[in-house]
Amino acid sequence: MSQTSTETRTADEQRVRDALDRLLSEHPPADTDRVEFWGAQFDLGLAWVQFPEGKGGLGVSPRFQTTVNRAILDAGGTVDNRRMNVLGIGMGAGTLMAHGTEEMQDRWLRPMFTTEEIWCQMFSEPGAGSDLAGLSTSAVKEGDTWVVNGQKVWTTLGHLAKWGMLVTRTDPDLPKHAGLTYFIVDMETDGVEVRPLYQITGEAEFNEVYFDDAHIPDSYRLGEVGQGWTVAMTTLMNERVAIGGNAIPRGEGAIAHAVRAWEESGSHDPVHRDELTRLWIEHEAMRLTQVRANDMRKKGTPGPEGSTGKLQWADLNKEITAFTMELLGPDGMLYPGGYEKIRPDVTSNQTESPHKAYLRARANSIEGGTSEIMKNILGERVLGLPGEPRVDKNVPWKDVPRS
Ligand SMILES: Cc1cc2nc3c(=O)[nH]c(=O)nc-3n(C[C@H](O)[C@H](O)[C@H](O)COP(=O)(O)OP(=O)(O)OC[C@H]3O[C@@H](n4cnc5c(N)ncnc54)[C@H](O)[C@@H]3O)c2cc1C
Repeated sequence: MSQTSTETRTADEQRVRDALDRLLSEHPPADTDRVEFWGAQFDLGLAWVQFPEGKGGLGVSPRFQTTVNRAILDAGGTVDNRRMNVLGIGMGAGTLMAHGTEEMQDRWLRPMFTTEEIWCQMFSEPGAGSDLAGLSTSAVKEGDTWVVNGQKVWTTLGHLAKWGMLVTRTDPDLPKHAGLTYFIVDMETDGVEVRPLYQITGEAEFNEVYFDDAHIPDSYRLGEVGQGWTVAMTTLMNERVAIGGNAIPRGEGAIAHAVRAWEESGSHDPVHRDELTRLWIEHEAMRLTQVRANDMRKKGTPGPEGSTGKLQWADLNKEITAFTMELLGPDGMLYPGGYEKIRPDVTSNQTESPHKAYLRARANSIEGGTSEIMKNILGERVLGLPGEPRVDKNVPWKDVPRS
């Protein structure tokens, strides 16, 4: 590293430390209402440190965010807003920074970070998941508004959301990727209906959303008409980092449950001990890879490398939670609390219950793009392997056969 970049890094680190000192001394987390604390964190540029000043950041490398989060936790504070508004803070914010106007950023970023306004993502449809660009929900322009009709599905936290990120088809005569447009939707708009979908855990984290002549102002369009695919890709790149790129402290997360279950089981089975050790090492290797990836991440939109963390995390989380159930023995077959149907406030990806964690982990290799799709992305965009055959790439969307 050159002397100048070392000096910049040291100066950046000092700015982060100064802002942190101010945050923790002027707003002691233990005595401050958490929404107020998150507001102060945003105002001091410690919400997304890589964003520009005035937008919740300091314009420094995203690697410093780990330092900030750790210091807040050590001071008795909470970073739960990142879980409570995971779609907004993890994905919406980066999308607004890359494609939103100043006005949009000033209107939406702060209440997003404080959780005063929850966000959801409306991309998937019954007929479009992995092949997202094939989606059907239509938006037709009428004066200064767009009239939206169609159905979205698997909309996480849609039941709590004030704002939604929506991709629509605005030109069916163009090939599938070219005819899309991206909007931000007020979920309280007439003609938007959110219905729960219950998961294997008994919870309805996600929903289906129906659009029936819902009117969206043109001023809520993100990016140009027809640029929806580019904007959506920004959201998805951020999503993969949000899901699989969080460098947690050593020994925490799913592996902590496994270690606890091992200790409580009193098992002296050498096969169990071997398996636990192997999983612990893999978990630590993944964690260190994430730390390194975060160190290397530039300030802008994350690249396709985000898919490595997502892929690795999904597979490992499934393995660890399954092993924890094995350690629980017959107790693993009971589901504490039963299957009470609820619509939760947060996703149960980081739940304390090993039973629920095991069931919830089944979704890890589907949500945010399936593991097969992550492998395709890594093969094509990171390793430079030949792409999949794409027979509908240049065909007008309306002429592509659909079931
Ligand atoms: C818990 C959870 C939360 C979610 N939250 C949201 C949300 O908030 N917003 C949202 O928009 N969506 C959400 N989703 C939807 C998610 O993004 C999709 O389920 C996912 O992209 C897969 O799409 P699909 O379900 O239509 O499956 P399909 O695309 O139909 O895939 C079916 C199978 O075929 C495989 N497959 C498909 N294409 C290929 C290919 N080209 N090469 C190899 N294999 C292939 C897939 O890997 C998969 O195994 C959520 C899903 C889950 C499970």
